[in-house]
Amino acid sequence: MEYLWCWRCKLEVPLLDEEEYAEAHRLYGECMRNITGGTLSERFQPLLDYYEKVTGYKETVANAIMHHRIAQYGPPCENCGKPYRTPKATFCAACGNK
Ligand SMILES: [Zn+2]
Ligand SMILES: [Zn+2]
Repeated sequence: MEYLWCWRCKLEVPLLDEEEYAEAHRLYGECMRNITGGTLSERFQPLLDYYEKVTGYKETVANAIMHHRIAQYGPPCENCGKPYRTPKATFCAACGNK
């Protein structure tokens, strides 16, 4: 887990490493299949609980967790320190640095 700027959320959030993400992804799939588990937020509670346990961050939107994966982001920008949006990005969307 690592705190990084998420350009989708426009917040510094804890992003999951590959090991943590694999477990989150597994839980997400389980919650998706659990169509009798109550409301949408109740169904995804196990995933939200897991994310909070790993990161100490109380997330309420299951879908946000699914893009909080370190491997989806690029290296930090030399200019502003925010990560590039993707590992292949050629410029920084936050400050325009190339
Ligand atoms: Zn985000
Ligand atoms: Zn930048």
